[in-house]
Amino acid sequence: MAKEKAVKELEDLPGIGPTTAEKLRGAGIDSLDKVATQFPSNLSEITGINEETAKKAVAAAREATTLNVESAKQLKEKRDDIGRISTGSKDLDELIGGGIETDAITEVYGRFASGKTQLGFQLAVNAQLPRKDGGLAGNVLFIDTEGTFRPERIVTMAKKAGLDTDQALENISVVRALSSEQQMLAAERADNLIKEKNIRLIIVDSLTSLFRVEFLGRGALNERQQKLNSHIHRLAVLANRYNLAVYVTNQVMDNPGMMFGDPTTPIGGNILAHAATTMLYLRKSKEEKRIVRLVDSPLKQEGECVIKITPDGIKD
Ligand code: ATP
Ligand code: MG
Repeated sequence: MAKEKAVKELEDLPGIGPTTAEKLRGAGIDSLDKVATQFPSNLSEITGINEETAKKAVAAAREATTLNVESAKQLKEKRDDIGRISTGSKDLDELIGGGIETDAITEVYGRFASGKTQLGFQLAVNAQLPRKDGGLAGNVLFIDTEGTFRPERIVTMAKKAGLDTDQALENISVVRALSSEQQMLAAERADNLIKEKNIRLIIVDSLTSLFRVEFLGRGALNERQQKLNSHIHRLAVLANRYNLAVYVTNQVMDNPGMMFGDPTTPIGGNILAHAATTMLYLRKSKEEKRIVRLVDSPLKQEGECVIKITPDGIKD
């Protein structure tokens, strides 16, 4: 008798081959959990497999998924293990509770030149510092979707932080993603890299720009949101599985319907707002000053502070 393979991926389900699995993912059903909660008739409609096969696939997916139950005490212990990476600004660190945290997604949104990328560079350097200096003595995965990663800036900031500059560059793995598929793959295939290189921070700069240009118009909106949703969910899984920090940047769009206040909202809307643990809104002030607004955080009250983008990096 053939030995049954452990069911870990969609393709491991009986009757589900690579083509069918791809159709499922395309419809946003990208995990065993999601298959487990489908009606077989729906699955059959999406993929074209017959209902009997669909029934078996759903049953196998149910079998393979286990609910993740932890006691509140275990959760507390896990929380005690949470690390934080300093932003370079004491005021900003304080605003967000001591730096950007692991096992969480921190989203920064703002207009062009507001400093989202510069803050990312600073975090990529600071993550490498020892804990006592505001780091996690860890390495970094930088997913660059806009071609704006600048090693020279890393060198300058690393020097200022007292790190060996060659080593600091070595410790940052950069993926230049040219399409949303490449961006998603970078996160999907990150497990080995994370383990081998002790990655404690993943940066996605920017989270939304490729999706925004690839999925234009109303008809594509649904697909865009599904893919973005799946991508950010994957990032959240990595953050939790490896207790690492995720920093994502996002542009803003003008919201002409809004008459009072600041008429800008982050791209991707609610999906991202729900997925990000902490949301920061960056905006330009005079010269090198930037105002950071804490928009959403599970621990802290909303508030604002001012940071500076200097030639040496982010400062108070
Ligand atoms: P975009 O949406 O276009 O990606 P962003 O929010 O990522 O914008 P950044 O690239 O982080 O913006 O910020 C650019 C700004 O950072 C510059 O306008 C400048 O004020 C500042 N900056 C960049 N490099 C330096 C430097 N070497 N020294 C001082 N300030 C710098
Ligand atoms: Mg940028």
